Amino acid sequence: MDITTRLQLLEAVRRADQANAAHTAASRACSRATQAAVEALTRLVHCDRQLAEASGPDRIRHGDMLDAARQTYAESGRRKHAARTKLRRTFVAARTANRELAALYGPHARGRATGGKRRSAVAASVLDELAAMPLDLIRAADAILVHSSAGKDSLVMLHRLATWAAQAGCKDKVVVVHCDLGDTSEWPGVRELAQRQAERYGLRFVAIDADGGLLGLVEKRGMFPDATRRLCTSTLKRDKANVLLTAIVTALGLDRQALIINCLGIRAAESTARSRKLPLSIDTRTSNGKRLVLTWHPIFTLSDAEVWQEIASEGLEYHPAYDALIPRLSCVFCVLAGFSVLVRAVRLCWALDLPLPQQYKDLEARIGHRFKEQYSLADVIKEAARIEAEEGPLTWRPGDAIRDQLGDTAADYYLHRLALAA
Ligand code: SF4
Repeated sequence: MDITTRLQLLEAVRRADQANAAHTAASRACSRATQAAVEALTRLVHCDRQLAEASGPDRIRHGDMLDAARQTYAESGRRKHAARTKLRRTFVAARTANRELAALYGPHARGRATGGKRRSAVAASVLDELAAMPLDLIRAADAILVHSSAGKDSLVMLHRLATWAAQAGCKDKVVVVHCDLGDTSEWPGVRELAQRQAERYGLRFVAIDADGGLLGLVEKRGMFPDATRRLCTSTLKRDKANVLLTAIVTALGLDRQALIINCLGIRAAESTARSRKLPLSIDTRTSNGKRLVLTWHPIFTLSDAEVWQEIASEGLEYHPAYDALIPRLSCVFCVLAGFSVLVRAVRLCWALDLPLPQQYKDLEARIGHRFKEQYSLADVIKEAARIEAEEGPLTWRPGDAIRDQLGDTAADYYLHRLALAA
């Protein structure tokens, strides 16, 4: 099966899924409309009976109630009719979409997964194949968005993608997208580093400003996000990146569906939730008739050590916060970080003379909402002060992140390479 057929299959799976979901929603709406019509009829019969039994001034009131019940019943009938029409329409659309998928897949089905969950099995098998052929995928794409936080995983992902894009002769398709949350959210120099990392490969760089960053979002909502209500990622990053995605598709000006690949440096080893994701998947949220959007995690299977190994051996520039053994280049006070990481972040802020700990502590007091359910940022600051009293200020050396992961020799070699490149 060639890549064009594979991509056509994915689009057919997407359309079939979408059509089935629309039919399921229409079916539920139809049940609700039928139930509403039954209730309206019951009410009408009741009002009719009450009017028959009423006398004197009560007849006027019951007459009005009967009129209202008649209107409600008539309206419920119209709604039920519209819902049934929509149900029939979505049924036909779902049947057509599934038939189209079957016709497209049939000639290639031999020896491939089908089973009970036919559509998802087809998609999974095709996506697995595509993930294993990065150069073809890059050649087939109309645009490739590389979402970079400037962190270590983004860095290695970017290095791999830039290398593949250069091999495929497609560097012009790549756009490195960085969501800049501002200096009240992130460590200093993150945006500049993301830009340098992209420019090293001669790639286009676009920074998206998230006005107010995490601090502004919390101030506005009066509460900190958490793992279950992670509004920060969707509001500050995903929604804004989607606007850029639409602009890129419009600028392409294609008279066919565009293939857009969204690349993220997510790895299975990071968390249980992330390990459940797939290396390549259809982004059903942003795909539509104008664009098929695939989400690609090119370094999905790498371990922490492998990421650092690649940074060291390729001499890639990483953010100095890692040398202070901050494990992720996220927001300085990420709502998903553990207590010990937050304590270290407070100490690093003090070492760098950043006002963030006090700003976040003040914010907590102002909105009356703790940074986390289990503890406040004031608790974190207290613990950081206790450790500083015992150990003194936080210190680190360039290359400590690599030293910590891979040992002294690797760190010395890395620093030597960076010095040569400077
Ligand atoms: S880094 Fe953490 S706090 Fe910042 S946007 Fe992402 S999840 Fe939210």
